[in-house]
Amino acid sequence: MSEQNQLAEIGIFGGSGFYDLLENAEVVEIETPFGKPSDKIIIGVVGGRRIAFLPRHGKSHQYPPHKIPYKANLWAFKKLGVQRIISPVAVGSLRPDIKPGDFVICNQFVNWTHTHGLNQRDDTYYHGEKVDGIKHSEKVAHLSLAEPYCSELRKVVSDICEQEKILHHKNGTVVVIEGPRFSTKAESKFFASQGWDIINMTAYPEVALARELGMCYVNIGLVTDYDAGLEGNPSIKPVTTAEVIEVFNKNNEKIKELIFVIIKNLPVERSCECEKYLEQAII
Ligand SMILES: [Zn+2]
Repeated sequence: MSEQNQLAEIGIFGGSGFYDLLENAEVVEIETPFGKPSDKIIIGVVGGRRIAFLPRHGKSHQYPPHKIPYKANLWAFKKLGVQRIISPVAVGSLRPDIKPGDFVICNQFVNWTHTHGLNQRDDTYYHGEKVDGIKHSEKVAHLSLAEPYCSELRKVVSDICEQEKILHHKNGTVVVIEGPRFSTKAESKFFASQGWDIINMTAYPEVALARELGMCYVNIGLVTDYDAGLEGNPSIKPVTTAEVIEVFNKNNEKIKELIFVIIKNLPVERSCECEKYLEQAII
């Protein structure tokens, strides 16, 4: 897509809580070869930059994590001209020193989801055969995800958290589970024993799909709970849905402010490698 047709340069996975940030907001409906995205996309201006918002679970939270149309969502952002994606997600903590209310700027993930193939959680646009009418599916590509998140975006987020004195962790490994159920105590204990820091149900496959489309991607985990509890601390109860919603909503203003400052501080030109991975990956 040419610069002229660029309707938005930054994409954010976020719901209606963010819309009051936008000037001149308009609603766009996008069709993709993979069906409709989770919802209509709201486009507008924040701090002079054109931003697109898409609620990952749909406006009424109608999509559980394993049913989110991830491929359509990422494709829709690409179609609008988006180059960078900011992805706030609610996460559980697997460590006592990562506390509810903290932000974690992930640097690694472990994919523990299991429904791939050609269903909603399909994690590639390159199947080596013509799928969904997309020509480049006929190709085979092996992209590097050794460093899965955009280094430039991560640095901007980390510097801003520092400046604004927001409690944050500069690195973190997120284990992404299938959901929609929460973990058992045994599973949670196992994840923690691997040295993984936080847990979530939606942080994969967005990151892999974004890389295939040459878009920068940063994951900002907002800690809402301690998953199934913490070893040796019986006073911490296993997570409930009500707790996740309560802590996430309580921190909504903080996330919104952080996103606003990130947008204002993002350099216009990208100086990272994210756009180049695909060139080296096609067979
Ligand atoms: Zn990048």
